[in-house]
Amino acid sequence: MDAPAACTICPRQLLDHETGRHICTPCEQRIDQNLRKLAGPAGLYARLCLRIQPGRGSDGPVVTRSAGHPIPCNEAVLSLTANGGIVSTLETWVEDWASYGLGIHGPGGRLQHRVDQAVDTLRRNLTRAAHRHPAMDEFGREIYQAVRQAEAIISGERQPRRIPVTCPCGTVTSVTLDTDGFECRGCQRGYGHSEALRLQVAERRAA
Ligand SMILES: [Zn+2]
Ligand SMILES: [Zn+2]
Repeated sequence: MDAPAACTICPRQLLDHETGRHICTPCEQRIDQNLRKLAGPAGLYARLCLRIQPGRGSDGPVVTRSAGHPIPCNEAVLSLTANGGIVSTLETWVEDWASYGLGIHGPGGRLQHRVDQAVDTLRRNLTRAAHRHPAMDEFGREIYQAVRQAEAIISGERQPRRIPVTCPCGTVTSVTLDTDGFECRGCQRGYGHSEALRLQVAERRAA
């Protein structure tokens, strides 16, 4: 099987010294950086866990639904930190890579330990995987996604605020401040960005 001439992640042509690789060196470095961000006591995973048990370390999530005040993004945090979240994304790749002779699946342990161990294995084998593993683009994407989701929660990024506006026909539509425009569901009239934001803001219903 011939090696591809271009990186499977970015549009770059592979250079002579990159012959035989599936991805270019800069893409490998980006993946490595993302992996590094996830692991360790100050990594994204540990910081996500702190959001579930404030001040109680990163021993994996414990959720008490009935007691205490729920943290707004708890659901999202939980789905990332619990078994099946980031740890499973990483371990699935470790297992997959192991079948290519790229590292072995380590023993279990606490979730944080498993994350660290998986990241460690993946980073240690990353360069060889860049030569040997056919799905580096998929791997890179999943790692990037895990980092993005974790960073979004930690930085408190929210969904853009939506504003309900009323079309003269009476139909209310929620738009964001950076809307490209919309078509009214009621009268099919099309609104551009500035037209949409000039519409009357729908009144909040009085209690
Ligand atoms: Zn690349
Ligand atoms: Zn309308």
